[in-house]
Amino acid sequence: MSGLNGKVALVTGGTGGIGSAICVKLAQAGCKVVSTYLDEAQASEWKKKMADAGFDMAIVKCDVSSFEDCKSMGEKLNAEFGGVDVLVNNAGITKDGTFRKMSEGQWNAVLTVNLDSVFNVTKQFIDGMLNKSWGRVINISSINGQKGQFGQTNYSAAKAGMHGFTMALAQETAKKGVTVNSISPGYIGTEMVMAVAEDVRNQIIAQIPVGRLGKPEEIAALVAFLASEDGAFITGANIAANGGQHMC
Ligand code: NDP
Repeated sequence: MSGLNGKVALVTGGTGGIGSAICVKLAQAGCKVVSTYLDEAQASEWKKKMADAGFDMAIVKCDVSSFEDCKSMGEKLNAEFGGVDVLVNNAGITKDGTFRKMSEGQWNAVLTVNLDSVFNVTKQFIDGMLNKSWGRVINISSINGQKGQFGQTNYSAAKAGMHGFTMALAQETAKKGVTVNSISPGYIGTEMVMAVAEDVRNQIIAQIPVGRLGKPEEIAALVAFLASEDGAFITGANIAANGGQHMC
């Protein structure tokens, strides 16, 4: 991937299934990669696993749903690395339930972690990108933000909101060399999805025209392309990677 050597990349939730693949791909492309984490022990284990695989990843503690936490992280990374060039807003959670049964707590948790976080984190690094006249913001949304999903009014609203944010910010930053895009993955074969009972997984796969789950590496490759110089003309886009499950 051209133009990524020496760039600083921050991946929120980089220790997760898709996040880990994104961290590896960006590191392979020459970025200095930083991942957020919540749980100290889990993050140290992840860092060691990455080191064993030959990757020197940096980690920073941050609850992306907290503006204060994100502000502290921003101050730390701006001082330590001179800013962030590639920001991947990837951290996310689900708390499913039909709307009639959904509590205010389930709604707020999903909206704050998936959507408020995009404001909280991007706010810390956008000035630096604009000042350097180069930057990439890549938001990991979801197929369910495009088509809706039974039992996920909270998640679908948050993920659709991410793309609204993407289009608006892209217009504000385009002239300054900063692109902003969303990726909307379909079902990806992360540990979580692979842990679902096989018959349920097969029902999911039956709805995917290519006949399989996506791979975290396929999302990571798209992230790296958007981050590279080759992706410089793409901004304000929402790129679907769902094996044909939803076409629009
Ligand atoms: P994982 O659960 O494996 O990873 C999620 C990551 O987000 C974890 O590292 C988790 O940290 C982190 N995280 C959660 N809450 C917070 C928080 N408050 N502050 C900071 N970090 C947090 O999920 P995936 O890798 O599967 O998903 C990654 C992204 O892709 C998500 O946004 C998800 O919605 C999206 N997506 C996933 C699909 C799939 O099929 N897997 C399909 C479509 C979209 P910790 O483990 O420490 O809690």
